[in-house]
Amino acid sequence: MARTPRLFVISGPSGAGKGTLVSLVRERHHDLDLTVSATTRKPREGEIDGVSYHFISEEEFTRRVEAGEFLEWAHVHGHRYGTLKSEVDERMARGHSVILEIDIQGGMNVRKVYPDAVLLFIIPPSAEELERRLRGRGSEREEDIALRLENAKREMAMKDSYDTIIINDSLDVAVGALEAAIDHYETSGGPEEHVSD
Ligand code: ADP
Ligand code: 5GP
Repeated sequence: MARTPRLFVISGPSGAGKGTLVSLVRERHHDLDLTVSATTRKPREGEIDGVSYHFISEEEFTRRVEAGEFLEWAHVHGHRYGTLKSEVDERMARGHSVILEIDIQGGMNVRKVYPDAVLLFIIPPSAEELERRLRGRGSEREEDIALRLENAKREMAMKDSYDTIIINDSLDVAVGALEAAIDHYETSGGPEEHVSD
């Protein structure tokens, strides 16, 4: 069936499993490109500049905002993060679907610029499981975990603004639901009839 490249946004609380799901889906879906955002956050152990993020200074971020280089940007968990227009435009021009792993403010702003963008929201099965995953990941300090859990409540309240909600309880089921949503929007374009669970 013919596929139309789409711009996908994937959001959800930190620790819900967005990164895990996207990397599993991309193993099978090779023309789904993930953009590299710019951030003022410091790299975590193992993160590579230009691969995980473009790690830039506050001054450089401000310069790029003023130069109009961002499709969207936002303050998230105490740092600035943004999607560079160049990251999206080049990939879409090559006929690839693009996936932006960004927060809800970013999602809402992308929808204003690209009304056809598809907004997908990943939720954990419970608040307790979210906390367990965030701690289990072991990548943030205690105060960062507390901030992310606090922000999760605000983010969860916005989930109904998204086109599709996927509950990441069983990883296999959630990967299947994400793949099905991507296939659906690339091949038919219309809204899905149900919320996956
Ligand atoms: P996010 O990108 O949303 O911040 P991650 O993909 O980093 O979240 O996942 C957070 C942690 O939860 C990781 O340690 C990951 O291995 C784990 N995880 C992701 N999905 C599941 C799942 N369905 N069941 C159990 N653990 C999961
Ligand atoms: P992390 O610090 O865990 O890598 O990401 C923290 C949060 O920043 C996540 O919710 C992620 O979706 C969001 N984020 C990452 N890149 C961008 C971006 O380019 N724009 C926006 N608005 N949010 C982003």
